[in-house]
Amino acid sequence: MPDIAWFRRDLRLSDNPMLTAAGERDGSAVPLFVVDPALWEPASDVRRAYLAHSLRALDADLSGQLLVKHGDPVARVVDVARRAGAESVHIAADFGPYGAQRDEAVRAALQAEGIDLVVTGSPYAVAPGRVTKDDGTAYRVYTPFYRAWRRHGWRAPAADPDVTWVMAEECDGIPSAPDLPFDLPAAGEEAALERWAAFRDQRLQEYADHRNLPAIDGTSAMGHHLKWGEIHPRTMLADLGDSEAEDVFRKEIAWREFYADVLHQRPTSARQSLDARFDDAFAWDSGDRADELFEAWAAGQTGYPFVDAGMRQLLTEGWMHNRVRMVVASFLVKDLHLPWQRGAAHFMRWLRDADLASNSHGWQWTAGCGTDASPYHRVFNPVGQGERFDPDGDYVRRYVPELAHLPGKAVHQPWEVLGGYDGGYPERVVDHAAERLDALDRFARMKEVGTAT
Ligand SMILES: Cc1cc2nc3c(=O)[nH]c(=O)nc-3n(C[C@H](O)[C@H](O)[C@H](O)COP(=O)(O)OP(=O)(O)OC[C@H]3O[C@@H](n4cnc5c(N)ncnc54)[C@H](O)[C@@H]3O)c2cc1C
Repeated sequence: MPDIAWFRRDLRLSDNPMLTAAGERDGSAVPLFVVDPALWEPASDVRRAYLAHSLRALDADLSGQLLVKHGDPVARVVDVARRAGAESVHIAADFGPYGAQRDEAVRAALQAEGIDLVVTGSPYAVAPGRVTKDDGTAYRVYTPFYRAWRRHGWRAPAADPDVTWVMAEECDGIPSAPDLPFDLPAAGEEAALERWAAFRDQRLQEYADHRNLPAIDGTSAMGHHLKWGEIHPRTMLADLGDSEAEDVFRKEIAWREFYADVLHQRPTSARQSLDARFDDAFAWDSGDRADELFEAWAAGQTGYPFVDAGMRQLLTEGWMHNRVRMVVASFLVKDLHLPWQRGAAHFMRWLRDADLASNSHGWQWTAGCGTDASPYHRVFNPVGQGERFDPDGDYVRRYVPELAHLPGKAVHQPWEVLGGYDGGYPERVVDHAAERLDALDRFARMKEVGTAT
């Protein structure tokens, strides 16, 4: 009788030790995916569409044997396992707050039927919780985490599984992908491996120089593949040597691991500030004017070209360059005085690589309430950042057609150029210099009343 291989965020066949474990007893296994309404219902169209495409690719890789069930995983997984006569259900660990609780509930329900839940591997090179300080506590600062993470090391990629896939019963079907206003990149393991190989062979050595320049295709754009486990980070790490660029790239992979670790240690930090003073004692704005400003930000209509280009890239591609993510996040929190959670929710809705740990903590890092020591004073200047990282203005012109008539870096300050607004670009919604001082003042007031956590 086959055991069950329950896929979740590991939609691939290679470098997937969970699959080897699933096939070990019988040589065959039922590949299962459960469309859980608790995750599917609140999911954005971008997330639903990408997942639907990725499941189709996985099903094709499994020669059409993927068993898709819809409903509460506690009931569905137990049903499938019982009917298949399985002794075990195999999973890779999920360290997210919801996933970890769900898995405990599934484990208990399976146990009642005499079936084991077996955990092999995780979506990370080093599982969250493994890298700790000497006293066993978790790191809250990235650099020492990174050093310890490297010292800890990780396994080599797993061998391909030797398993016969069987579909034990009728499939409920892969949900259809909602229409989006843009095309998503190809999903699935083959696309992930191809994209990785192309980046590794053609652009990786320039990564350190190019990764901060949003007009250039200088980063890997592997985020969505990693998010759904279409490739394991171990596969990528195994290809990295010791050049400066490879080292910088490894450090970026480590940020993903660090944030997963932080979220695992503090599950509430998905929605609450790590430094609780920012939720309890900071003077955030609210009301009609705050909502208007939020809408201007979300639509890319703030009058700050670099910010607007980023927000429009998000709406037209489902992706935004990391440098610009930092700048738009800083702008929302420090220029518009809106809580990071509003921006994080918007990102979760639109990013094709939306990931709870990296998103919540990317936002908190920028907002100054997260893992770094004292970054609140780092208020990004939206004009200076644009001039520095988009020196020729190509990125802004690509996404903000109202500024296409301005040459070079003049796009970053249309207010300085005669005819700068001829294309109909909006005036600035706030004055950055004044809002920066206001933000620092609010921070000082928070420190007077709040107790640091
Ligand atoms: C406000 C904000 C929100 C973010 N939200 C997300 C999110 O929802 N999902 C997400 O995967 N990343 C998020 N990031 C991190 C980063 O912006 C993206 O991982 C990166 O832009 C994805 O593009 P890439 O794959 O080309 O990255 P590359 O530069 O090619 O990096 C390779 C991989 O390393 C990881 N990585 C790189 N930088 C970071 C980082 N700072 N934090 C965590 N992991 C990183 C990603 O998995 C990425 O795919 C956020 C950053 C900020 C500032």
